Amino acid sequence: MKLPSSPPRRKRPDSVGFAIVGLGGYALNQMMPRFEQTERAHIAAIVSGSADKLRRVGEAYGIPPDARYSYADYARIAADKRIDAAYIVLPTGMHAAWAIRAFAAGKHVLCEKPMALSSADCERMIAAGRRANRKLMIAYRSHFEPYNLEAMKLMRQKAVGDIRLVRTEQSYRMGPTSPGENWRTNRALAGGGPLEDFGIYGLQSALYLTGEMPESISATTFRPTDDPRFAEIFAHVSSQWRFPSGAVAQLVTSYDSAGANFAHVRGTKGVLIMDPATSYAGQKMTLEVGGSRELNPGDPSVQFARQLDHFADAVRDGTAIKTPGEMGLRDVRLIEAIYASAKAGRTVDLTPDGRMRSPRR
Ligand code: NDP
Repeated sequence: MKLPSSPPRRKRPDSVGFAIVGLGGYALNQMMPRFEQTERAHIAAIVSGSADKLRRVGEAYGIPPDARYSYADYARIAADKRIDAAYIVLPTGMHAAWAIRAFAAGKHVLCEKPMALSSADCERMIAAGRRANRKLMIAYRSHFEPYNLEAMKLMRQKAVGDIRLVRTEQSYRMGPTSPGENWRTNRALAGGGPLEDFGIYGLQSALYLTGEMPESISATTFRPTDDPRFAEIFAHVSSQWRFPSGAVAQLVTSYDSAGANFAHVRGTKGVLIMDPATSYAGQKMTLEVGGSRELNPGDPSVQFARQLDHFADAVRDGTAIKTPGEMGLRDVRLIEAIYASAKAGRTVDLTPDGRMRSPRR
């Protein structure tokens, strides 16, 4: 667990106070240390099932004992004026319930990706936020990361001409585990597995690089028998998308093959290669149009703090959120379409907001 050696510096008076809900790997090792780099966000409280973590993390971050909550005490955050927002960093299958409870407590919600495991849950989260008149943002960090922002701009400017083919892959090989040991292999907490967890980066890239929604999807899933890692989830998910412009995308994601995280966009004039595409750091991007040019638009590690400040600005100034609940819902609908296509063994047609049309005759 990565802990700071001194409590964080004081922030401006209108800084947004976050309750971090779930002290797991991503919260502790990536996001909590980044609050130090923000302008307008600070950790006001922590919520955990582990009394030991509450004490150790609370002491390291200078969070007073009365701002350290167990899950059983969660409803009490309503009365805690130090907390403006809940940052939900729990296993995905828990996002909806804990986000809705945060809204019921009158707090804004920043929710980790993917938003939830069903479009129905996403819709409930959006409705709860509206009822409470509070903000909802999905933590899609690539929308705040210089390489991905530059790639979006280049594609809008048609730097590779008209986009024809997009290929994305997000894969790694998971060590021995089982649904009881690791929530990422547990269907109730992780859905189908690699697509929701890692492949969602490729899904997002295909959307923001083309600037289009697919009009149809056909997909295949694979689950080996006799492997406890895949007792409940898929090992690989592959899908092929067709866009209204005529562009085609191929998305692959796997928990059982050597590491990959890339996005390639091939247009009529050239190619954009992002590899790695959406890491925490170390992004590489090459534009091949005529010659080959390596692009270096900025430090990827700013994505975490910028994401937090963007949400804080929305809370304080009412500015528009770039990655709202509606975007999370759209993506979960596409995930549902991918699984529906694989299950039915046929192409699924979609409406412009990602809903499945009735099956073709
Ligand atoms: P971890 O397993 O490391 O942490 C999850 C934490 O949730 C646990 O440590 C625990 O915290 C809490 N928890 C509560 N109930 C359960 C339960 N039944 N099973 C397991 N954990 C439980 O997961 P990650 O931190 O990797 O992922 C958390 C979320 O963050 C997920 O939604 C994931 O998709 C997202 N994520 C996003 C990334 C990004 O780049 N944006 C990268 C990695 C993850 P405690 O002990 O404090 O109760």
